[in-house]
Amino acid sequence: MNIALENVTKTFGTFRALQDVCLDVKDGELLALLGPSGSGKTTLLRIIAGLDVPDHDGKSVIRFDGKQVDWSAAQQRLVGFVFQHYALFRTMTVFENIAFGLRVGPREMRGSEADIRKKVNDLLSLIQLESMADRYPSQLSGGQRQRVALARALAIEPKILLLDEPFGALDAKVRQGLRRWLRRLHDEIHVTSVLVTHDQEEALEVADRVVIMNAGRVEQAGTPDEVFHSPASAFVMDFLGNVNLFHARMDGDAVRPARADGASAAEGEATGKAARILVRPHDLDISVVENGSSMLRARVLRIQTAGSTVKVAVIGDSGENVVVEIPHERFRELGIARDDLVFVSLKDSSLFVEDYSI
Ligand code: ATP
Repeated sequence: MNIALENVTKTFGTFRALQDVCLDVKDGELLALLGPSGSGKTTLLRIIAGLDVPDHDGKSVIRFDGKQVDWSAAQQRLVGFVFQHYALFRTMTVFENIAFGLRVGPREMRGSEADIRKKVNDLLSLIQLESMADRYPSQLSGGQRQRVALARALAIEPKILLLDEPFGALDAKVRQGLRRWLRRLHDEIHVTSVLVTHDQEEALEVADRVVIMNAGRVEQAGTPDEVFHSPASAFVMDFLGNVNLFHARMDGDAVRPARADGASAAEGEATGKAARILVRPHDLDISVVENGSSMLRARVLRIQTAGSTVKVAVIGDSGENVVVEIPHERFRELGIARDDLVFVSLKDSSLFVEDYSI
């Protein structure tokens, strides 16, 4: 099922939680909503589910497969919902928790007891918890509980699955396993899924497309590759990983970073506009001698070698904190140590330039 949001705006009192959100979620797609706390992710998810309504402004429209659903109740929307802290019924077994949605609702719509048992057993096998059917929620780990919550949401055969930080309360290792499992499950059951997360790694790894939200608006929507490698704004670039910030001057299309000795900052003041360059740590290099491309003279503060690359934290002459990420081989070549004087330069690769003069 396809979801189309057109100019969705939501105001709480005088506070605008969502502003003209336009978004298309394709049939069978797994879309991640990513953004800082308070950016409107949960509000948007609740509006899709029908648990909340957008402003009655004549512009906010929600369609499922082209049909306007703004006024249909949550129960009619065939939406499955999993929350961060899904309240499984404590006094019901895993089996009965999953069967719950199949036992409520109009009698004529319910299946026979045999149908229900078959469906719950299929779902137990899907979440790989067949052996735990008779346990109570208190006898499960957090990850197992979330898998039961997911099976419970899937029992009603939703066309849309909405997940609000489903693994947010779990530790990093369990989260990682569960998100890969969720991706495989999503591919198996062909459902349109929207996953809310504030974890960029989770969004980039699991989703077909990622929507980055900021203060109730969509900053960018694109594939993980697009948002990471071609950020539409400084906010997106900053949100999706570590960035270093450098001051620069812009002359037309030419961007000139401040030079290592800081002289050009003053020298460039007369020409060009002020700009900021945002650079990821792995797009920088370090050398022990100054060369034409050095942007910053700095002293080594910390070196972190545990990991697939070496992270070198340096502090520039004017107090700029910069992190450079280099291959182990390059680090051995340089032979640098704490307190050494180094020069940071830009590799011939991606950076984000922001006109800062406005
Ligand atoms: P988080 O990652 O912290 O869950 P979020 O991106 O999901 O954040 P929302 O829960 O959608 O953010 O909230 C967006 C904004 O709307 C917040 O500033 C929040 O305080 C406000 N808000 C949400 N629900 C209400 C409400 N019922 N009444 C008033 N303000 C609300």
